[in-house]
Amino acid sequence: MDYSHIIVGGGSAGSVLASRLSARSSNRVLLLEAGQDTPPGQVPAAIADTYPGTAYFDPRFHWTSLKVRTQVVSHNDPNAPLPPLRKYEQARVLGGGSSINGQMANRGAPTDYDEWAARGAEGWHWDAVLPYFRKVERDLDIQDEWHGQDGPITVTRIPEDRWCGHTKAVAEAFRQAGYKYLPDQNGFFEDGYFPVTVSIDGKQRVSAALGYLNAQVRARANLTISTNTQASGLIFEGARCVGVTAVVDGQQRQFRGREVILSSGAIHSPAMLLRNGIGPVGHLREMGIEVRSALPGVGQRLMDHPSISLSSFIRRPARLTDAQSRRHILLGLRYSSGIPEAPRGDMFVAVASKSAWHSVGQQVASLLAFVNKTYSEAGQVRLASTDWRDEPVVEFNLLSDRRDLDRLMSGFRMLAAIQLSAPLAAVTTDPFPAAYSDRVRAIGVVNEKNRWITRAIATLLDGPPALRSWLIEKYVVEGFTFRQVMEDEDALEAFIRKATIGVWHASCSCRMGRDDDPMAVVDTEGRVRGVEGLRVVDASIFPVVPCANTNFPVLMTAEKIADAILAETARVPEAVA
Ligand SMILES: Cc1cc2nc3c(=O)[nH]c(=O)nc-3n(C[C@H](O)[C@H](O)[C@H](O)COP(=O)(O)OP(=O)(O)OC[C@H]3O[C@@H](n4cnc5c(N)ncnc54)[C@H](O)[C@@H]3O)c2cc1C
Repeated sequence: MDYSHIIVGGGSAGSVLASRLSARSSNRVLLLEAGQDTPPGQVPAAIADTYPGTAYFDPRFHWTSLKVRTQVVSHNDPNAPLPPLRKYEQARVLGGGSSINGQMANRGAPTDYDEWAARGAEGWHWDAVLPYFRKVERDLDIQDEWHGQDGPITVTRIPEDRWCGHTKAVAEAFRQAGYKYLPDQNGFFEDGYFPVTVSIDGKQRVSAALGYLNAQVRARANLTISTNTQASGLIFEGARCVGVTAVVDGQQRQFRGREVILSSGAIHSPAMLLRNGIGPVGHLREMGIEVRSALPGVGQRLMDHPSISLSSFIRRPARLTDAQSRRHILLGLRYSSGIPEAPRGDMFVAVASKSAWHSVGQQVASLLAFVNKTYSEAGQVRLASTDWRDEPVVEFNLLSDRRDLDRLMSGFRMLAAIQLSAPLAAVTTDPFPAAYSDRVRAIGVVNEKNRWITRAIATLLDGPPALRSWLIEKYVVEGFTFRQVMEDEDALEAFIRKATIGVWHASCSCRMGRDDDPMAVVDTEGRVRGVEGLRVVDASIFPVVPCANTNFPVLMTAEKIADAILAETARVPEAVA
């Protein structure tokens, strides 16, 4: 059977596309997803949970071999030591990132999308994308010109009367520091603190799979969803992509269609292009791959938001209980660093009132600052081998722009001031600079061993204060103490260079742009330059990462391109065999 559209990857973007394109009965849509299904009524508990921290670390839903470098890699100095490889969770499950992410549902600044348009994504300025953000959501709390009421993704906020003592204390500290309270993070974009908007319906997570591929959509005769199916290559006839090779439950298969859409995410979409001869000529030759389309931008200028955390021990009465909320992050702050070139709201703070599902996690709070408007655009995805089973080489090169390092240093000092303020001093003790290390990740996996270990540690931490301080300094702190980084600028810089990580917002590795921009990989409707019948639609095509968590910007992007595809095929009706 030939399909009108074969979508490779059923993540945030792929779920939107499959749903919208199959709404037209003359289309025949095939969605291929490497991971497992999450059918309505049988969503795994870790995914459905409104506490997202267990899905983050659940290997059933990840590309488990993927490792990345976040620190800057010096390619000019072959003798420079390579920074360490770190785990970097990328979803391998229907719904993709939206099935395992932190459920934060925000859009970014109007200036972000005006910048997209200025960088060559014509027609993607703020006024043009706002209707698609509205189309994505059904806001349970707010009805005004900023919000949608009929979209597939329900969003809400955890109201103040369900905040724990810690969250309330941070809000009070923000207020005393002069920040304004904003009831709506996604309303008029200005600095202030707010209850974060989240993609839950009150009871459970609303992933793109749940929202867009509901029972009604799945019942369509013209939509086939094939999970446990990993695309291994693209089939070309001349310059036209006519299908996909894939492994379905261990069996090699071929699928043919009028158009293939890669929605495999910002790491796997460029890797697929590279393996199929679309990318920088030098790298393709080095790998022995025949060049099909010379596109220097493929895999280049990968981005994420650099972030740093300051943690502390929460006194017992101020801890978050499940009765209040299972979620860990209830409150956020947008502020301006004041550097002249950055737009307002270039910095973000997420307030986590628990740091993991286990007993120690409930005792530890974190203030997580990230550079929302980052200037580090020097990451890259390259092939490690031509074998489709191998993960690519991924280097984020976070902090490649000095302005990001400087803002994380001043951001850390700002977090410290909040941490030491009277409202927080009343409910927390023992602040420490935190690192989201592989050790923290390992103890974050849900299993009985971790449950018992953390219970034992938690009992000790709730014991005498001197024992607690000793335990935190000896076993929790990795390298730098709070006092060291506060008293010594060099120690602060060294800590930030070492501990800065991304926040899973991999993006921009196959950017949209004008035909005369040599680094543009796709046009403004996701078509890959130099070939036919092939698009990329996912976080890869962002012209620059917006001042936002990336799920909603991806959903918006997929909605907008789905509309363009439907408009285009309505103009040129074409029979599908
Ligand atoms: C742990 C985590 C926490 C996050 N927290 C937040 C948050 O709180 N808020 C927010 O807005 N954003 C968050 N994000 C980011 C956001 O979820 C992602 O930016 C977004 O989901 C990316 O969408 P995508 O469609 O580009 O890719 P994905 O959603 O990653 O989808 C890609 C899909 O393609 C599949 N795939 C890849 N290769 C193949 C192949 N060869 N064959 C078949 N299938 C393939 C993958 O299995 C995956 O399902 C988080 C992400 C992660 C991982």
